[in-house]
Amino acid sequence: MRTIQIKQILSQARVGDTVTAKGWIRTKRESKNATFLAINDGSTINNIQAVAEPGQFSEELMRVITTGACVAVTGVLVESAGSGQSVELKAQNIEVYGGADPDKYPLQPKKHSLEFLREIAHLRPRTNTFSAVLRLRHALAFAVHKYYNDNGFFYLNTPIITASDAEGAGEMFRVTTLDMNKPPRTDDGKIDYKEDFFGRETNLTVSGQLEGELAALALSKIYTFGPTFRAENSNTTRHLAEFWMIEPEMAFFELEDNMNLAEDFVKYVIKYALENCTDDLNFLDKRLAEDEKSKPQNERSIPLLEKLWFVVNNPFERLTYTEAIKILVASKPHKEKKFKYDVAWGIDLQSEHERYLVEKHFKKPVILTNYPREIKAFYMKQDDDGKTVRAMDVLFPGIGEIIGGSQREDNYDKLLARIHEVGIEPEALWWYLETRQFGSAPHAGFGLGFERLVLFVSGMTNIRDVIPFPRFPKSAEF
Ligand code: ATP
Ligand code: MN
Repeated sequence: MRTIQIKQILSQARVGDTVTAKGWIRTKRESKNATFLAINDGSTINNIQAVAEPGQFSEELMRVITTGACVAVTGVLVESAGSGQSVELKAQNIEVYGGADPDKYPLQPKKHSLEFLREIAHLRPRTNTFSAVLRLRHALAFAVHKYYNDNGFFYLNTPIITASDAEGAGEMFRVTTLDMNKPPRTDDGKIDYKEDFFGRETNLTVSGQLEGELAALALSKIYTFGPTFRAENSNTTRHLAEFWMIEPEMAFFELEDNMNLAEDFVKYVIKYALENCTDDLNFLDKRLAEDEKSKPQNERSIPLLEKLWFVVNNPFERLTYTEAIKILVASKPHKEKKFKYDVAWGIDLQSEHERYLVEKHFKKPVILTNYPREIKAFYMKQDDDGKTVRAMDVLFPGIGEIIGGSQREDNYDKLLARIHEVGIEPEALWWYLETRQFGSAPHAGFGLGFERLVLFVSGMTNIRDVIPFPRFPKSAEF
């Protein structure tokens, strides 16, 4: 008797084989002639149906076999009489690993709201929606590694605890072992971080980029894929306090190469999911279509699979920030004062502006380049006009910014001047600056928020639903 995953049973086992299926009961249906158990082990969205005959098993056993119980069913595979599956398991033996009291088990077979499921994040992987999202998330992560490995990149692990808060990308979480009730003080009454574990102030990283650059200027092409932390108090559907970021960094790449890589990479991973997660994506496609029915016709988004294939098969629109501002200034929502935030050259684009460009104007993903230097980080390469930098943001429908990147400033003097300008202590970045003194090279890179990618590919609408255990303000239960 082999224990094999239900996915293998459904795809590889033959009628007449004796197999053991182990998993959690999704539904139990009793008729005059038989009891039907739908069993799922998470290996696939599809259940295997086990059939027991009336009186075959003790009443006591049949009572604990309820939705949520974990069982091992051994039996012979037979052709299924019912529709929806080709084979079913004629039960010969049922072992119950753990029951699930129907009066208490919260996941009864009915539609639960995503908000409710967030409160039971320890059990939600047992739903079709979340198991589909988690399998999809896995496939996308695998595709990320495969893409970079196949293209000559090295996977680099950058520090999670960092002493540099120079990136200025967001609010940081402090890491300390000091006694919060009685921290050591300096003579002038400030907390004395010299006494702290690392002998200085440390935080959780907001990005691995600066360290990524160091490695790119040695290995040529690297990528990171690690957790990132931002204590920004943004209670939005697109921000988490803990998220995963993929950051490739390439020596000898300029802005154009960077854009080409970003576009090729995103298309590759989406296509990988389309080709390898068919069952889950079909399920999520139907799920979204069902949700959309409740919206008025003109507000409905295009079907998930259609949207994904469209992104894979069409070139992204590329234009400069300055061109984008012109489009926004001339747009209907701007003229009719429908935007919440005003538009003028120099503003940091808000998500309403990004989404207008992507969803209304171009109706496809957009790469915006050459942003004003004032609104971008100090390390971006300055353009000759003295006003803009070689930044690039990739904007996606329904999401807004999915990738942020740039060509990096490789000129020592310009970089140092900019560091002074934005008020960073150059001493804190001595190691970063040295790479521009010793064998500097043109280089570029970007950061893709992994959950924003999963959000887009799954068609889910809240980023809290595409990571197993989301971290956001006032929430770290599980
Ligand atoms: P936004 O303006 O949307 O907050 P950002 O400009 O702060 O994004 P970057 O610092 O450029 O973002 O980070 C790179 C990528 O990381 C973003 O393009 C996005 O995909 C992702 N990202 C940034 N902040 C978050 C967050 N709080 N939760 C999830 N993903 C994020
Ligand atoms: Mn942000």
